Amino acid sequence: MPLYIREIRLGLDEEEDELLPKAAQRIQIRKEQIVKYKIVRQSIDARDKGDIHFKYGVALYLADAREEICISQRTGAEYLKEEYPAEIPAGQTPLYKRPVIAGAGPAGLFCAYLLSVYGFSPLLIERGKGTDERISDFEALNEKGVLDPESNVCFGEGGAGAFSDGKLTTRIKDARAGTVLKLLIKAGAPEDILYAAKPHMGTENIRQAVKALRGMIEENGGDVRFNTCLSDLTIAEGALATVTFRSAGHMEEEAADILVLATGHSSRDTYALLKEKGVALHKKPFAVGLRIEHPRELIDASQYGRFFAHPRLGAAEYRMTSRSGNRGVYTFCMCPGGLVINASSEEGHTAVNGMSYYKRDLENSNSAIVVTVGTDDIPGDELAGVEFQRRWEKACHAAAGGYGAPCQRTEDFLKGRKTKSFGIVQPTIKPCAAAADINECLPGFVLQGLKSGIEDFSRKLKGFNMPDAVLTGAETRTSAPVTIPRGDSLEAVGVKGLYPAGEGGGHAGGIVSAAVDGLKVAEAIIGKYKPHYY
Ligand SMILES: Cc1cc2nc3c(=O)[nH]c(=O)nc-3n(C[C@H](O)[C@H](O)[C@H](O)COP(=O)(O)OP(=O)(O)OC[C@H]3O[C@@H](n4cnc5c(N)ncnc54)[C@H](O)[C@@H]3O)c2cc1C
Repeated sequence: MPLYIREIRLGLDEEEDELLPKAAQRIQIRKEQIVKYKIVRQSIDARDKGDIHFKYGVALYLADAREEICISQRTGAEYLKEEYPAEIPAGQTPLYKRPVIAGAGPAGLFCAYLLSVYGFSPLLIERGKGTDERISDFEALNEKGVLDPESNVCFGEGGAGAFSDGKLTTRIKDARAGTVLKLLIKAGAPEDILYAAKPHMGTENIRQAVKALRGMIEENGGDVRFNTCLSDLTIAEGALATVTFRSAGHMEEEAADILVLATGHSSRDTYALLKEKGVALHKKPFAVGLRIEHPRELIDASQYGRFFAHPRLGAAEYRMTSRSGNRGVYTFCMCPGGLVINASSEEGHTAVNGMSYYKRDLENSNSAIVVTVGTDDIPGDELAGVEFQRRWEKACHAAAGGYGAPCQRTEDFLKGRKTKSFGIVQPTIKPCAAAADINECLPGFVLQGLKSGIEDFSRKLKGFNMPDAVLTGAETRTSAPVTIPRGDSLEAVGVKGLYPAGEGGGHAGGIVSAAVDGLKVAEAIIGKYKPHYY
């Protein structure tokens, strides 16, 4: 088993070739004894602005495993832990119909991939279009303000993460996260995602990877269909019985034993369908707020001091939290050197989010700044959170007068006056930034939280409240406003064969955790059933 050496320090101007002698020195061996080494982790230590440096974790492979054991015993060096069970014990219950997976976001794609590897030949249906056509629809929204409610930033191959920064950080501690990263590399992602402390792929690499993943699913016998929306299902005696798909205006019903519901947090009609069918749903807290844009250089300088332009550092990130009364206020989904984008998926509604390319080298850095919305803030039934989101998305749409988004200088927002023109920071949202007073576009408790958060964050990050920083509204789709509870088998409570997966059911938040959840659901199916439909 390879040895793992942590915390090897490299200066900003030292080459990675220095890692091998430094690692060898740490465990007092000659570098020639090392047959191979692999970078397992890389992070930037910027705590002391006068001494910014890299920290590496490196796996060392020696010629002889006995030698590795001796060195570990002598020096206390740890071993590199293995990550994922290679084999999932196969189940024996005969399955007579292929599993259906609704939604080709990270949860659906990774679930379909694993099922396909184990010979389940799943059917993966996606309401939106394939990546290339989806990009055209995204461009049409940006250029002409025309929204396709079935093909946009939330719907289509790759799901909500396809037009993103492709951040792959996750707070979940699950060994499957490593598997997700390795599969993404197999699908063409940059190899540094495996060891960077804050890995990101950039939207262009995510889009390529999801296409490659689709190819792998198909190669393994899976069937992937776009423009195909799960529009109905029936439940008989506590078990899934049929599913109905809508495709180009046609309805198709098929008998089904397994439906993986990986439809994401924006599939509001699917939540309504589940409610109508009596599937258990609960209201869930979420958060809403705005995107804030600063000059990238300002953020870089605040995080890296005099090293801010060093070519090896890249665009800087931040993550900050605060309190406003009993509410949380926090920054979220930061996109360094990126763009604010229109993430609407319903006509007459405006929602925004962020996206970056791999290089993260555009003029502005943006992040969401959001305030928590508790279940007490949304009186009403299980879907009250959806209606809350809709209400404020409509207000933003009205304020922008179409598919642009309402934007405001931070100084104007804090003083409650409408912005007349923008200054040093130019908004990046397309098709247009409508100068507005965002104070009209969100509820009072959210505005109050945002204002106190902006002031607090500017104490931690100098310039955060710069007068010209641009706020764009509204960021409403931070997570699902609903939970679809599931039992130990990962099936929806009381409905055999229905597996909620990923963010839409409240079981994940972010690309990696949604993909991990998709793998978990696939494992549950593989561990129980044996395909009998050939
Ligand atoms: C613009 C943007 C940027 C983001 N950036 C990041 C980031 O950098 N890093 C990160 O970790 N997370 C990011 N996120 C969040 C991340 O994308 C989500 O957490 C993740 O995609 C959730 O995965 P999922 O598979 O559960 O659902 P989704 O990705 O939402 O996928 C659900 C899929 O189901 C399809 N669908 C919905 N209803 C139906 C139906 N009835 N029938 C068939 N198909 C259906 C949808 O079209 C969609 O493709 C971002 C989100 C957005 C919107």
